[in-house]
This record gives sequence, structure tokens and C-alpha cells, in this order.
Amino acid sequence: TDLTHIRNFSIVAHIDHGKSTLADRLIQATNTVPDRDMKEQLLDAMDIERERGITIKANTVRIEYDALDGQHYVLNLIDTPGHVDFAYEVSRSMRAVEGSLLVVDSTQGVEAQTLANVYQAIDADHELIPVFNKIDLPASDIDRVAEQVEDVIGIDASGAIPVSAKTGEGIRDVLESIIANLPPPEGNRDAPLKAMLVDSWYDAYLGVIVLVRIKDGVLKKGDRVRFMQNGTVHQVDRIGVFKPSMQTVDDLGPGEIGFLTASIKQVRDTRVGDTITHEKKPCDGPLPGFKPSQPVVFCGLFPVDSAEFEDLRDAIDKLALNDASFSYEMETSAALGFGFRCGFLGLLHLEVIRDRIEREYDIELITTAPSVIYHVFMKDGTKIDLHNPADMPDLTHVDHVEEPRIKATILVPDEFLGDVLKLCQDRRGIQEDLTYAGSRAMVVYDLPLNEVVFDFYDRLKSVTKGYASFDYQLTGYRQDNLVKMQILVNEEPVDALSMMVHRDRAEMRGRAMCEKLKDLIPRHMFKIPIQAAIGGKVIARETLAALRKDVTAKCYGGDATRKRKLLDKQKAGKKKMRQFGKVDIPQEAFISALKMD
Ligand code: GDP
Ligand code: MG
Repeated sequence: TDLTHIRNFSIVAHIDHGKSTLADRLIQATNTVPDRDMKEQLLDAMDIERERGITIKANTVRIEYDALDGQHYVLNLIDTPGHVDFAYEVSRSMRAVEGSLLVVDSTQGVEAQTLANVYQAIDADHELIPVFNKIDLPASDIDRVAEQVEDVIGIDASGAIPVSAKTGEGIRDVLESIIANLPPPEGNRDAPLKAMLVDSWYDAYLGVIVLVRIKDGVLKKGDRVRFMQNGTVHQVDRIGVFKPSMQTVDDLGPGEIGFLTASIKQVRDTRVGDTITHEKKPCDGPLPGFKPSQPVVFCGLFPVDSAEFEDLRDAIDKLALNDASFSYEMETSAALGFGFRCGFLGLLHLEVIRDRIEREYDIELITTAPSVIYHVFMKDGTKIDLHNPADMPDLTHVDHVEEPRIKATILVPDEFLGDVLKLCQDRRGIQEDLTYAGSRAMVVYDLPLNEVVFDFYDRLKSVTKGYASFDYQLTGYRQDNLVKMQILVNEEPVDALSMMVHRDRAEMRGRAMCEKLKDLIPRHMFKIPIQAAIGGKVIARETLAALRKDVTAKCYGGDATRKRKLLDKQKAGKKKMRQFGKVDIPQEAFISALKMD
């Protein structure tokens, strides 16, 4: 296709503002998919995404559009994930296109991810078309949203398009605005091939599928291509486009977005951001690459039933095939046996992987306390990257510890501001900025990532009744007074419950943990001390009294079947416990004990 008749764009929005629904309408309005095959959230491929209503991977679709100017256009749309953990995916999708539709729910207004997306779009030198969605709802207020977009974001809202992605109203205007206001791609058909590797994933039949954006040159089936970063050469066995199902094409030229397959076995062999060129006639140099996405949150995953370790390995191997941002290595815990130490982009990512293992592979898991990467500086001058609090060296050898910090942006209605400030303060935050936009406040905090990974987002939602939105960026490392707190149950340290804490907050956290565990651990025949300790010094203690709960006591002898049933029930309950020395600790204790109220 002639470059002037191509438009490439992404859709960005705060979660639930209607990105996927708008994508559906664009696909439908252009008859890309026959009506009978149309279903909601067409691009959200994975089941779990559908259920949770989130898009994780970016999805691509090629749309053909006959515009009012009588010309035929090819539009390539990339639908991006809306959650903060996947900001990285958004930024790389943006590098593959020239403009974005910025969807804002006109009943809600600008939210934290709206802002984050705009900053990324500006970084990528994008044209932005504001789209005000959900105008079919009575609460829709376009003037107010336009004012917010201009005040808070500082972009011109005069060209904003009011739409209802639900009813289809305004969809034509969106398509026409894309043609009129987004720049066509640039590129040279006669130059050597230069293509950007935008994304890749594993398909059981085709092997690795590589999403590419052609900058210069032409890619054809049968070509031998080189992936410039790792130097590997592959023979292309298939190229095509997404409509949104895969359709093979003869070639892909400048400005086009499509896929290639080349019998590649592992997603890990395809580095996102890499440049692909011809083996024989290479381009002068690679495109500026992306930084690879780095896991920031780590936790241990152990099977509840230790006989399922091999099944867990299998499940993790398979999931990692398709998710290069998820890292793992084997871990052994004195308390939990064999498992894996896994790294994630954020908490949602962690939850998604954990859910998939439990659901798709039917393995019950114990998840240990999520932790960030600490930099531990030793007295002998060496430095350790600490991924697991259990590996924290003895304090006498440690000079100092640094922890990762974030810049958090929170948008919240006035009435909840006090609660939000308190929450950030409680989590060792330092306020950096506080501004108002209408009846809403925008606060910026410098916070330790460690204080955010566990339940900050849940807490934020609950203190603001769901009205706050939140986004963060990692900023760097800073030294603080950080120590490892151990939990001892019946005098035995439970390594899976070890955590790094700030010294000033250790007593409080320790006490809370002991109290929680006292409620969560069932009574045994003997008395069980539950202690929190720092370097051998006990800082909090609870005692669980001895008492055997005799579940059959109330059956007064007689009814044998009832007794049987009760005993079976107790046995089933037992299966979800792990033994620590002589003590059974239920699975939920590991997560619940860490939650702060
Ligand atoms: P995303 O998270 O940005 O992809 O948002 P979705 O497209 O999944 O939409 C979130 C919710 O808003 C869904 O329940 C949609 O049905 C609903 N929704 C999206 N667009 C509209 C609209 O124009 N009008 C109304 N009434 N609901 C909408
Ligand atoms: Mg979506």
C-alpha cells in the first residue's frame, strides 16, 4: 500500500474507560469482522483477561477503511494494556505507531493512567486525538472533561470527538479524524530492510510469532533475516497480518505492521525492540532499542502438595515460554520444600501468573511475601542484589542497605484527600506535589516500592471507595534503615514469612504479624509461641494456648456416619496446611499475615 494511505495508531486509556469497546466498534464499523463472528472485547484473547476485564498483551488489528474522500485506507490499530504494571507494553506499542486515540470516559474524567499515557505519547512524539467516550450515559459531561484535559494535561481539546463505543455514535468521526489528523508513516521501499520487533508470543502450532513494524524495505516469505541484537539468522516461513485472525500476505512494506514466523522455538530468542534486517543486504544500523523490561517484584511459589513440584515446574516453564518478562529460578525453603523464586513486573502480573497456575494447571500454591530487590552493601566492599529476604546476610557484615523508590501519582476527589495523604504518610512517603483540578486533587509522592507492592493499591481503593487512580514509575535507590524481620513459630524460624522492614516500623509490623498468625494457626495439643525477631532479638511475641479442638465431641457417641463426615472434613482442611516442625500452618496464613490493616 502507498504510504499516504496508511495510518498506524494505538488506543490508550485509563482502565475501564472503554478502549477495548472502542476497538470493537472500529472493527465492526469497517466490516473487518463479519457480524456473525463479532463478540465483545474481541481483542482480549486470553480468558483471564476477559474475566478480569483487562488487556495484558498489546493486540493488533488491520482495518480497511473507505473514507469520505473516496480513498481506500489501511489502518493498523494496537490496543494496549491499561494497567500500571504493563506500562512498558504501552510504551513499546507506541514506538510502532505514529499517533494515539486518547480515550477518556466522559462520566469520569482524567485519571492517573490517562496522564501516564499522555506522557508516554509525548515521549514517543505522537499525535493525540482525544476521544470522549460513554456519551450515551446521563452522567456524561463533555465540557467538564474538555476543561480537565486542557487544565490537567495541557493539550488542546477542541478537536476531541464525543463518542459512545457502546452504541456506535461518533465512530465515523473517529475514523475520519484518524485519516485527517494522524500523520502517515514514513519509510523507503527501496532501502535495505529495517523492521522493529514489537512483540512476540508462542503459538503451539506455528512456534514463535513475531510482530513487526516495517520502517524501510520489504519483507517477503522465504527471506533470510538477521535479528541484529543477538545476531541470529532465520528463514522466514510465513508473513501476514491480523484481521484480527491471522491472514498471510505476500509482502510487508514500509509503514506496515504484521507478523512473521521462522520456526523459532522460544520467545526468549526474540528480544522486543530488536531490529530485523536481511542477512545479505543489511541496513546501516539498528533502530534505537528499548530497555528490556525488568522484574521488580519477587516472591516464592511453592506447591501446597509437595508431590506436585514437577507439575509446577512444567506449568511455570510453559507460562514463561510466552512471557519473557516473567523470571524464575528454583528455590528451596527449609519450611516449604521445593519451589520457585519468581520475578514479576508488578503485583497484578504476579496475581495473573498465580491465578493461571492454580486455574489452568490445577496446582494449589503457597505464595510467600512479595519483595523488591534490595541493594545490600557489605562491609568488605561487595554488593549483593537481594531478591529474597531469607538470603539477607548477618547484620554484623552489612554496611548499609538501599531500597527502590517510586514516584507515585494519585488522582482523587477532594473528600478523600485526607485519607490518601495519611495512607502515603503511613507508608513512609514523602509528598512532592499537590495540585487541584476542579474538585479533584493530584498528589505526587516519593514512596518506597516495598511499601507499595503488597496491598497499597487495595488500601487506596478501599479508603477512597474506588475513586482514586494511581500510577507509578521507578525512580532509583536510596539508603534507609532496613532490617530483616524473622517470624518464629514454636521457636522455629519460618523463612517464608521473613521480610525486610524499616527499623522504625519493625515493632508495629512484628506485633501485627504475631497477632494475625495467632488467629490463623489452629490450636495444637501444646502451647505455641509465635515471635518476631530481628537478628536474634525478639521484638514481639504472642502465645497460642494449647487446646485440641475435638471436632467429634458434640456428637455424643452415637452417630457414626456423622463422626466419619466430620473427621473427613477435618482431614480435607488439613490438606491445605504445611507442617513446620510440629506445627501445622494453613496456606492462607502466608498471605493474610502480611496484609496490614
Ligand atoms: P478498557 O478497560 O478501557 O478496555 O474498557 P472496556 O472497553 O473493557 O470498557 C469498560 C466498561 O465500560 C465495559 O463494561 C463496557 O461495556 C463499558 N463501556 C465502554 N464504552 C461504553 C460506552 O460508550 N457507553 C457505555 N454505557 N458503556 C461503555
Ligand atoms: Mg480492555
